[in-house]
Amino acid sequence: MSDCIFCKIVDGSIPSKKVYEDDKMVAFYDLEPQAPVHIVMIPKTHIASANELDEHNSPAVAHIFSKVPEIAKSLGLNGGYRVVNNCGADAGQTVFHIHFHLLGGETLGTMV
Ligand code: AMP
Ligand code: ZN
Repeated sequence: MSDCIFCKIVDGSIPSKKVYEDDKMVAFYDLEPQAPVHIVMIPKTHIASANELDEHNSPAVAHIFSKVPEIAKSLGLNGGYRVVNNCGADAGQTVFHIHFHLLGGETLGTMV
């Protein structure tokens, strides 16, 4: 989508500090980290939010989760980490290209 900042990160027209990329996804450092390690993981295909997932596009999400252990290990998150998805206004979603926050590098407070 032309006006989507995460699609622009995918096509390289907005810079990002990438930690992982393949043909289906990109993982990069969040601009406003909420933990010592804060990565944003996105599919290369535009899906607005978790609310738009279905049986056809959900393999893009499965692929991201299949790479989480490798990405976490590469970042030294040996003590654990949290993966978060904000869906919609009530959850505070600000970028409407589905993404998963990978947070770690310290003992995280209880969130749910
Ligand atoms: P959410 O509130 O779940 O929609 O999260 C969007 C996240 O994207 C926020 O944590 C922002 O700090 C982050 N973000 C927005 N623009 C960029 C960017 N250009 N590069 C890296 N992270 C970004
Ligand atoms: Zn997009």
